[in-house]
Amino acid sequence: MSATLSLAPLYQFKGWVVKDISVNSSGHKVWVYLRVDGRRNGFRCPKCNRRMGKMRERHREVLDLPLGTASVVHLVFTAYQGRCAHCRNIHTFRPPGIDAKAQGTGRLKRYVSLLCRFMPVDKAPRIVPISADTARRWDKEVLMATLPEPKLDGISAILVDEKSIGKGHHYLTVVLNAETGEVLHLAEGKKKSSLQGFFDQLTQKQKVSINAVGIDRAGAYKAVVEEEIPHAKIVYDKFHLIANYTGVIDKIRREEWRSASKQDKTFIKGQRYNLFRNPENLKPEQELSLAKLLSMNENLNKAYVLKDALKVLWTYKYGKSASKYLDQWIFWAMETGIEAIQKFARGLDKARDGILAFCKHRITSAKIEAFNATIARIVRRACGYRDLEYLYLKIRQEALET
Ligand SMILES: [Zn+2]
Repeated sequence: MSATLSLAPLYQFKGWVVKDISVNSSGHKVWVYLRVDGRRNGFRCPKCNRRMGKMRERHREVLDLPLGTASVVHLVFTAYQGRCAHCRNIHTFRPPGIDAKAQGTGRLKRYVSLLCRFMPVDKAPRIVPISADTARRWDKEVLMATLPEPKLDGISAILVDEKSIGKGHHYLTVVLNAETGEVLHLAEGKKKSSLQGFFDQLTQKQKVSINAVGIDRAGAYKAVVEEEIPHAKIVYDKFHLIANYTGVIDKIRREEWRSASKQDKTFIKGQRYNLFRNPENLKPEQELSLAKLLSMNENLNKAYVLKDALKVLWTYKYGKSASKYLDQWIFWAMETGIEAIQKFARGLDKARDGILAFCKHRITSAKIEAFNATIARIVRRACGYRDLEYLYLKIRQEALET
């Protein structure tokens, strides 16, 4: 007994003392019995400091941090409820850090939240004897209490993106601070209303400070932006334009596929991802088969070369030279004789103002790319995206810590 009681300093709860500690024979379970510190001389009303009257008692067993090889540690105590005869205040006395109906102590919840920072939520039960649902609930609770609110003052530029996650057509609308990468808003869907919610939480002053918005040309966001912050410049950012063009390459590939011979088909199949990969990320054998695919197919070759050429546009600093280069690219695109590319080029010409706006408003796509790189991992770790509020907290946590 004396050996276990020497653990008592680990269980210091103000107003309570350790009465006893017992360990089961395997050493995996521990019970720590707490009792009210006698020196308190009864219970006093926390409001008026008068002694409180008749008490209701409730036996409680609350999970606490693992201890050595014991993964199950129970704090056992009696909670006392009383009603102050003087100020009618009703108060329950229990060790600090333990909520009314909590299954675990505050410090255990913080520990679980820490685990969920580095492992999938559904793996946490292997370390702490709780369900995955409880782990998620606790993590959410801790994050809600500890994560700072998004900074909405003095934002000068935002990026708005739709993100397809999970299987099927499930979309999220994401708003990022274009400068800091901070996630400001996350909403279901990719409709007007999905973005509206972001502006609804801004004050007039906060809206005025936003002078540039990076978005995709397609989609429903433009109308909301023009309505809510008409003074802001719309920038069709690099990320979305390159993604649009990648869609064009995919279309050409599918067309070539339809007209290809059976033998060529076997080869083209499976090359899709090599086309979309950055050349520097290709393994030697992938590079070789990509080269074969391109030499076999002139149209794909042209489309691929033009993709690299398009990226060069964003290396220009001055509007005039960027505009000249855009003309040059459109000329090359027209020269290819490929309808899909020509159509894309005409679209660029029409959206010229919004594309070249990047020269003045240095919105880069780096923040979106960084965001995209982490969201899939977070969805996995947080066990899906059904609890949007939780996903938002996890994404904010990630962005704040990296
Ligand atoms: Zn009182």
